[in-house]
Amino acid sequence: MKEFKAQSKKLLDLVINSIYVNREIFLRELISNASDALDKRRFMSLTDSALAADFAIDIKADKTERTLTISDNGVGMTDKELEDNLGVIAASGTEEFKKAQKGKPDENLIGQFGVGFYSAFMVAERVTVITKKAGTDKAFKWTSDGVEGFDIEPCERDGAGTDVIVKLKVDGDDDRYSEYLENYKISSLVKKYSDYIRYPIRMAVETPVDGGGKAEEIKTLNSMTPVWKKQKSELGKTELDDFYKHSYHDYRDPIMHIQMRVEGAVDYTALLFVPSEPAYDYYTKDYKRGLSLYCNGVLIMDCCEKLVPEYLGFVRGVVDTPDLALNISRETLQHDRRLTAIASGLEKKILSEFEKLLKNDREKYEKIFAQFGKAIKFGAYNNFGADKDKIKDLLLYYSDARSKLVTYKEYTDGMDKAAPILYACGETQEKIAMLPQIEGAREKGNDVLYFVDPVDEFIARMLEDYDGHKFENIASGDDGKNIEKSGHKELLERMEKLLKCKAAVTATDKLKSYPVCLAAKGDVSLEMERIMDAMGGGVKAERVLQVNLDHPVVKNMENMPDDKFADTVTVLYNEALIAEGYKTEPEFLQAVNRLLAGGTPEKSKPKAAPKAKAKAKAEPAEDEKQDK
Ligand code: ADP
Repeated sequence: MKEFKAQSKKLLDLVINSIYVNREIFLRELISNASDALDKRRFMSLTDSALAADFAIDIKADKTERTLTISDNGVGMTDKELEDNLGVIAASGTEEFKKAQKGKPDENLIGQFGVGFYSAFMVAERVTVITKKAGTDKAFKWTSDGVEGFDIEPCERDGAGTDVIVKLKVDGDDDRYSEYLENYKISSLVKKYSDYIRYPIRMAVETPVDGGGKAEEIKTLNSMTPVWKKQKSELGKTELDDFYKHSYHDYRDPIMHIQMRVEGAVDYTALLFVPSEPAYDYYTKDYKRGLSLYCNGVLIMDCCEKLVPEYLGFVRGVVDTPDLALNISRETLQHDRRLTAIASGLEKKILSEFEKLLKNDREKYEKIFAQFGKAIKFGAYNNFGADKDKIKDLLLYYSDARSKLVTYKEYTDGMDKAAPILYACGETQEKIAMLPQIEGAREKGNDVLYFVDPVDEFIARMLEDYDGHKFENIASGDDGKNIEKSGHKELLERMEKLLKCKAAVTATDKLKSYPVCLAAKGDVSLEMERIMDAMGGGVKAERVLQVNLDHPVVKNMENMPDDKFADTVTVLYNEALIAEGYKTEPEFLQAVNRLLAGGTPEKSKPKAAPKAKAKAKAEPAEDEKQDK
């Protein structure tokens, strides 16, 4: 006997022994696997006609043996595949299961998403799988009691496909496993969970015949109408949610769904879902975006990337169009004009649904934006801003004055034509709120938008303006009064000299209780420099130390002796660095100490830092600055 892999064992135990779970879903899981196997064989049969067949799923209940058998004439498995596929629980399922268990354990949880094949052990004391891989002539039998491990041995089977034989557990006082052998129960479970499966799910039922006798008749239990082909009026939220959860292995309901039926140059129906949270691998390269593409209910492609733009990659769902040829290759599909037309229709629809939500159900939109705002923003910036105008009104930013999220439109409503949109950049809202310039803006009655995502400022640059309002970074040094015009030329020049080339000095009226702040002149902001640094560096911001001439500290500096003046400049510059979230310079602490001691004893006068040290700082070294 081979043992189950360790993590599978644990999971198995959870699945089987969580006695409150919705056991009946085991049938849905087995049927779904059979349907996948049929899909696979159908695919293969497109290029190898020998594999074509009348695809179907058959269910057989044997009351004497207490077995329920689910058979398919799908792709089947080799002995190796049996071991790989049924010896360990699918990694994706495991991941989600573990995630789900981290929160408050929910007894319904297991029933809410696919745990696949193993769910059979919720009702079975033994499961036997007899399978023959399509295109081979060897059949194998896998058996397990779902506790320690499994056995695999050769056997016989007519034709390719798989039988999953579920030997039901013995009935207990409250557990009526034999129920799953009753025709009415099986029919109703198929109707409930597997109605949309595109292959017939058949079962022999007894029907009364003339003369009082009974005859067996093979009946198809499912309507085979895919969920997305049903009329809106026929479809309840539960059915849609179930379809989503089951198709995308998510145990949470989707936050919204969109149903479309389009007749025009290209006919298609679409059923789209916005998940309530990004898939666990959404921000990794493993995530496969795209929609399932069907032609008249038959799957052509699982994740057709072409159907959704990258920035809406979190949207899941299906598109069904009768206009495509079934055996069209993936390569050809990528260039198909009809797909381009569908994709553009879908994109428009999704964006317009978002706009509607923004107007009518703000809370829901904000939920979506909290989860997928980064992705949407990326769309405004990507491709050199090709889509920015479609997206700009869907962006939300935290407003300093209003203490809530606003759109650009809401921010600019009622504003002077010439007034700029003020923004501030930082890693978090809390950090931005602490910027010295924010206080100044509030003092003047100006609202400021918080840009917390690195991409935000790039979007602002890309947009240039919103409805005529230019964007302005409150940490921009371009507004400063230059030294000549400040009326305090001597003081500022004296400061600038001491800062050497670390920063220019200008006067500003942007500040209130802070004496100085750090800003950047020209095209590269401090935030952009940081982003570029993270990406490997290169571009440097032109730093400016902006000075609040009305501040008592600065007023005090007018007639200060050189030593104290130098220390004060060091402290002020480092204060500005701290406020912007940078590390301080090595000379900072001693300068503070000397100032606190009330003077500069001759022997501990600050010495110029050696060159090598200067380079190790967070600051651009002098020579780099001079390069420009
Ligand atoms: P999942 O279906 O989520 O991958 P399961 O535990 O349900 O996980 O099944 C594991 C694997 O076993 C499937 O991915 C498939 O490769 C294989 N399998 C299960 N049932 C069948 C079947 N009826 N025919 C062919 N292969 C199957």
